[in-house]
Amino acid sequence: MNRVLSRDVKDYEGKEIALTGWVDVRRDHGKLIFIDLRDRTGVMQVVFTPKDKDLHALAEKLRPEWVVKINGIVGKRPAGMENPKIPGGYHELQATGLEIVSEAKTPPFDLMSDGREIGEEIRMKYRYLDLRRPRMRRNLVMRAKINKFIRDYLSERDFVEVETPDIGKSTPEGARDYLIPSRLYPGKFYALPQSPQQYKQLLMVAGLEKYFQIARCFRDEDTRGDRQPEFTQLDIEMSFTSQDEVLGLIEDLYTKMVKELYPEKKIKWSPFPRLNYVDVMATYNSDKPDLRDNKEDPNELAFAFIVNFPMFEWKETEKRWDAVHHPFTKPNVKDKDEFMKLFNEAPEKIAALQYDLVLNGYEVAGGSIRTTDPELLAAVFEAMGNKPEDVREKFGHLLEAFSYGVPPHGGIASGLDRLIAILQEEPNIREVIAFPKTGDGRDLMMQAPSEVSKEQLRELHIKIEQKE
Ligand code: ASP
Repeated sequence: MNRVLSRDVKDYEGKEIALTGWVDVRRDHGKLIFIDLRDRTGVMQVVFTPKDKDLHALAEKLRPEWVVKINGIVGKRPAGMENPKIPGGYHELQATGLEIVSEAKTPPFDLMSDGREIGEEIRMKYRYLDLRRPRMRRNLVMRAKINKFIRDYLSERDFVEVETPDIGKSTPEGARDYLIPSRLYPGKFYALPQSPQQYKQLLMVAGLEKYFQIARCFRDEDTRGDRQPEFTQLDIEMSFTSQDEVLGLIEDLYTKMVKELYPEKKIKWSPFPRLNYVDVMATYNSDKPDLRDNKEDPNELAFAFIVNFPMFEWKETEKRWDAVHHPFTKPNVKDKDEFMKLFNEAPEKIAALQYDLVLNGYEVAGGSIRTTDPELLAAVFEAMGNKPEDVREKFGHLLEAFSYGVPPHGGIASGLDRLIAILQEEPNIREVIAFPKTGDGRDLMMQAPSEVSKEQLRELHIKIEQKE
């Protein structure tokens, strides 16, 4: 029998088909039993009449969330019984067969509401049930469409999608690294990437010219608002490029994407305005201002670029100058000598070729033109408090790579979780991630982090010290 999706049932009037899925609701109307059968495309009403006694008796057993296969003949609903509010609301299936594939316990919470009234801990613990909610399914489906749009758009423009390692060496993006102990090299550690920054720059040295990746980034930060230990970036790097080109690319990509996938939304300005960091800070006291006319209107998208950032900021806790973006960003200077002179006079006045994209009060992308002169790059590392021998040890590979013919390059990375949350009108990024951690970094479904066996620790040469 032809297995059909609920959304396509209307095309099979008078035919016998099979539907598979979950029992959404069961309604008993006297002798008639109605089932709303749910699959990934929606719901379809199924009717069991008492004509076939065995079938009717079996249908009486059905409970919500049971998995079933139902055969039946597609018909129009009787006049007056149509439901114009749902797709497929003009049709129903007259059941001719029923197979109970799998029974289900009563779910711990309502699966059909939008779920906002349910405690997040329990939603996370039973995430696989929470994801049955139409709102969550929509979020995941739109996320997939956005990924596909990005891939198509960039591939059509000659960008090459490259996967870079997750197990590697620490790259500073200003956060703490997640470390992986090495079993084969006692006392040594890999780091999970805070971003693919160095790899994408090395791909420019390799001659790729146009790179992108929908990349996972890992940052071991303290719980602060709506953060996740791992998150997804659209990561881009280009050779022989300029700030104008990078900004133009991301603007065109997001404008076309919104037009195609969110036609109901209005982008406030086109082109996106480019605002000076200093002016924005003076006016809004924030580097990610919400520039919408009407802050209640989720259909208004106020994209804007922030440009002309300072290169350094003073880090009081560590008593040193730190890069506002990251050390690979190019200070707006001619060479190392000019840099040293300016740094010794007024480090806070050095401008960087750095830019952010903000949207409705959030930073949704950031990037820069990079320093490719190895001497200048080493000077920047040292200005940030690294001793020359540390620079060699931490970044020697990059400095060396830059001595083998490096094209000028620059790029940008865009936080996709946040962008998708804004487009889906979700209050936090956990709603658009299939399996997020809680706000305090726990996976309540799989129970992570968790203890490991003594044997595993021994293999990794690790001893746990119990706190007194
Ligand atoms: N790697 C940077 C970040 O994660 C983005 C970039 O400079 O391209 O913010």
